[in-house]
Amino acid sequence: MPDARFPAVQDAALDVLRRVWGYPAFRGMQGDIIGHVAAGGDALVLMPTGGGKSLCYQIPALVRPGVGIVVSPLIALMRDQVDALRQLGVRAAYLNSTLDWREAQEVERACELGELDLLYVAPERLVTPRFLDLLERSRIALFALDEAHCVSQWGHDFRPEYLQLSILHERFPLVPRIALTATADAQTRADIVSRLALDEARQFVASFDRPNITYRVQPKDAERRQLLDFLRRRPEDAGIVYCMSRGKVDTIADWLKEQGIDALPYHAGLDAAVRQANQDRFIKGEGVVMVATVAFGMGIDKPNVRFVVHMDPPRSLEAYYQETGRAGRDGLPAEALMLYGIGDVVQLRQMVESSDSPPAYKRTERQKLEALLGFCETARCRRQTILTYFGEDGHQPCGNCDTCLTPVESYDGTVAAQKALSVVYRTGQRFGVGHLVDVLRGQATDKVIEKGHDRIKTFGVGKDLSKQEWQTVFRQLVAYGFLCADPEGHGGLVLTEAATAVLKSQETVRLRKDPASEGRSRRGTRPAGRTAPAPLSKGDEELWHALKALRLELAREQGVPPYVIFHDATLMEMIHAKPDSLEELGELPGVGGRKLDRYGDYFLDVILRHG
Ligand code: ADP
Ligand code: ZN
Repeated sequence: MPDARFPAVQDAALDVLRRVWGYPAFRGMQGDIIGHVAAGGDALVLMPTGGGKSLCYQIPALVRPGVGIVVSPLIALMRDQVDALRQLGVRAAYLNSTLDWREAQEVERACELGELDLLYVAPERLVTPRFLDLLERSRIALFALDEAHCVSQWGHDFRPEYLQLSILHERFPLVPRIALTATADAQTRADIVSRLALDEARQFVASFDRPNITYRVQPKDAERRQLLDFLRRRPEDAGIVYCMSRGKVDTIADWLKEQGIDALPYHAGLDAAVRQANQDRFIKGEGVVMVATVAFGMGIDKPNVRFVVHMDPPRSLEAYYQETGRAGRDGLPAEALMLYGIGDVVQLRQMVESSDSPPAYKRTERQKLEALLGFCETARCRRQTILTYFGEDGHQPCGNCDTCLTPVESYDGTVAAQKALSVVYRTGQRFGVGHLVDVLRGQATDKVIEKGHDRIKTFGVGKDLSKQEWQTVFRQLVAYGFLCADPEGHGGLVLTEAATAVLKSQETVRLRKDPASEGRSRRGTRPAGRTAPAPLSKGDEELWHALKALRLELAREQGVPPYVIFHDATLMEMIHAKPDSLEELGELPGVGGRKLDRYGDYFLDVILRHG
């Protein structure tokens, strides 16, 4: 437990934050967490992606004597973190399968001799007798267990090796441990506590709100055009475009390239070398668009991912939040756009209903799907909806999501719903939306004539709504569970039991009117091609490009990602403050002592030339 040394420890921590990182203050709970761990306490930290988890163990490791051992399952991430720490002048290294025998031995020697501040290691290596012996011979500041949710069998990221990490507590009971994760649910948290023997640890649960991300959900009408419109407005920004299938990743990536967008594909079916090269280009380049399946993302901590697009709905709100959370780690404005249509809704429902999971599991899947569809169809603030789902009540409407920026009208859609449900019934519950809408709108197509659907009672009763409006109605009826896909999977819609009450006018249905998509309405969207929160003058825009070019050049020389030199946020500070001396430059957030020494002159030179 923290003792009388606590204030002194916190002063030391703040001093490290300012001197090494160049940041003026801790964010949110960081100060408390760091104070607690630096004073020798165990901690469990739940913080959203981008919340600033790394500092929570990096700083205590620097404040305490000895080396901080960081367990991480993500090899690519280890290298990036170590690169970033070395840029700050921190003595960091990693041990994993990418090192050859000699390199590994060199790292082990440095660890033993007390020449390291932080050592990153993969879990499978940590529990080997060889490594545990090394730990016995070294002075250890703390153990950090990153991505601690990997210990939970409930999640998709389960790593059996994590189960063995409780050995640390047995072998080194006096060394403080800090477990960190961005997965918030109660089950995972309980698993972490019990499996990692963290019963005594203090729990720090931060808000999961990511205020700098703007959430938008748009009905799909022409998905490629919607995507292209979105990308064309952000020509310099890096982002991720998630697609449901590998095939779709390939087609969309190819098509974007034809449209002149710097896009790359990523999915598990690609050759490992191609995948690695594409990931490297995304991380080390500027403005690359990664089109990917969800295989991409774990372990990507590029801070200036400016947007995440979902071309298809994700599998749950948890997944959605984790995937969109990869945008805007640097705290600058970022966007999340999801496209979804009736086809997706039908497919998702079908997947849950036709799965042969045990009933309890199926019930959970169904609840998760309801939550996701509820989020898509909501007329409330999107952020409020997500945060309430994660158990955070009491948030006000955010003013920064599509439903806040362009309030959604809802109306009593009972009559429209009755017409739609009745056309399904009268055509024999065998047809897809396209045909059903034709019948409602009184379109005498060949198929309508052939099936005799021009002679049924509902033919032409829906002329008051456009084709698109009817599609919106059908989508919501599926989302709310009044319609579902036919069990044979022919793409037809059938009535559910719940539909009866609506048809008998025993239940009313409220429907939302979909607002025009971003392509048609410019309200509430950012100006094109800009990363900064406020518009830049022409001169500043030039300075921004010059600073980015310098950063890229310095990064290329060393083979590191540009953001480890300086973050976008720090370049923005330079533009706003226009320092004219090294002292002034050193005052800016994100300019620590080591970086000022190494890069100060170069950046100052560019700033003065543009002054
Ligand atoms: P997480 O691991 O929780 O996703 P990171 O540790 O990568 O988040 O931090 C996210 C970003 O926020 C990083 O770019 C980091 O440099 C920055 N950051 C963290 N703490 C602070 C702080 N106190 N002041 C300014 N920037 C910070
Ligand atoms: Zn909102």
